[in-house]
Amino acid sequence: MTTLGKVSFWYEDIGLPVPRAPLAGDIQADICIVGAGYTGLWSAYYLLKAQPDLRIVIVEQRFAGFGASGRNGGWLTGGFAWNHRRYLAGNTEAGVRAMVQAMGGTVDEVARVCEMEGIDADLLRTDEMMVATTPAQLARMQAEVVRRRHWGEAAVRAIGAGEAMDRVAVPGTLGAMIVGGVARVQPAKLVQGLARVVEAAGATIAEATTATAIAPGVVTTDRGVVRARSILRATEGFTARLPGHRRDWLPLNSAQIVTAPLPADIWRKIGWEGHEILGDFANAYCYCQRTREGRLTVGARGIPYRYASAIDDDGTPDVETIRRLTTILHRHFPAARGAAIDHAWCGVLGVPRDWCAAVNFDPATGIGSAGGYVGVGVSTANLAGRTLADLALGRTTALTGLPWVNHRVRAWEPEPLRWLGVRGMYALLNAADAREARGGGPSRLAAIGGWLAGRG
Ligand SMILES: Cc1cc2nc3c(=O)[nH]c(=O)nc-3n(C[C@H](O)[C@H](O)[C@H](O)COP(=O)(O)OP(=O)(O)OC[C@H]3O[C@@H](n4cnc5c(N)ncnc54)[C@H](O)[C@@H]3O)c2cc1C
Repeated sequence: MTTLGKVSFWYEDIGLPVPRAPLAGDIQADICIVGAGYTGLWSAYYLLKAQPDLRIVIVEQRFAGFGASGRNGGWLTGGFAWNHRRYLAGNTEAGVRAMVQAMGGTVDEVARVCEMEGIDADLLRTDEMMVATTPAQLARMQAEVVRRRHWGEAAVRAIGAGEAMDRVAVPGTLGAMIVGGVARVQPAKLVQGLARVVEAAGATIAEATTATAIAPGVVTTDRGVVRARSILRATEGFTARLPGHRRDWLPLNSAQIVTAPLPADIWRKIGWEGHEILGDFANAYCYCQRTREGRLTVGARGIPYRYASAIDDDGTPDVETIRRLTTILHRHFPAARGAAIDHAWCGVLGVPRDWCAAVNFDPATGIGSAGGYVGVGVSTANLAGRTLADLALGRTTALTGLPWVNHRVRAWEPEPLRWLGVRGMYALLNAADAREARGGGPSRLAAIGGWLAGRG
């Protein structure tokens, strides 16, 4: 029997956390953070490192790590996942390269803090490996290696089919892109550890407390009002639920399945001794990991977007999504065909209209936010937290000058255009993948799909 939802498999692995108390009525703080995922918690962490006597209140609608931070694929990559050129408006190539370098530094920084603070997140240093299994994917892979090296990601390189198959035996592999210096984590262990550290440093995390309105100096919640000179909104994929923010970031769905632990003879057939975080170059790509205990996870979009920015029910995925993920599992890892699927779950991540992450802060109102990471938030949230901390403290640093700071973008269209655009895009990406699987170069359908929803 496959367990569905229950937030994520990662909590089945470690157990749900002991609930913290809700807000006990109106309160005064220096800084109020809305949302206790990686973004909110990293912001609090660095704020308290800089100024230990700050009174920080984090309000969280369910529990710390309830959102994507407790459900993701555990890829801690530091990769630059957005369109470099879109950050050039008002900035320079050198500025974008500085952001690429800052992103690259996040993996070491997360590992450093985990080590220093005693956070056991199953963090394992490894490579990212993205396989190409069709000629079109191979062409895309080669272009990606050139593009990322151009922008300064020196740890990115291509390897041939033989070397790739020696690492992980994915049938039909024609080559792979390797990114060195990344890490695999158990995401819920990371976010739970971070919450404990932040709390021990003096922050208050008020759980089961939903912010219903944010205004300069005031966060109104269903349990009382928090007054604070700075307010940091860290609600990523859930942002559309807040009044005034319904069309800021679209909640894009991502889903995963995990097998039962695989026996040694199956692992011998697959290989994967290096525990690389592994994905493919399909237009509707997948992301996989080999877990601490020898399970195999497969993640992909499934149903990409629900009408009117609706959000899943505690991570419960639909049957069609599970079928699609199982098809990917069987295609890439035929040796695991007989494996039971122990758990399936999903979550939402935030996507801005231009598919580019941003950190915002307005000194006039004292309100800031970070997110729109488009599926690369495990590492990015760390950089965002450091940057938000500097901004909220009024500091001008190398981080506050990066091009994603106060990067402006227009709102998503009203429904039904939003639904049509994103659903249309993924239909075209899937059609492109089917066409590419029959041979030939990259299908133009994917480019049309990207254009349709503004991904470019
Ligand atoms: C299935 C899945 C797989 C992913 N895989 C990867 C991966 O492998 N690598 C990677 O880099 N990224 C991945 N991502 C993206 C990454 O997980 C997110 O970008 C990142 O966790 C965002 O962190 P966050 O703190 O900004 O948001 P979240 O973790 O979503 O936290 C937001 C918090 O705000 C709370 N909240 C929302 N609204 C309110 C309110 N009104 N009042 C109070 N609290 C509120 C929520 O309950 C939640 O706890 C994945 C995402 C998903 C969904």
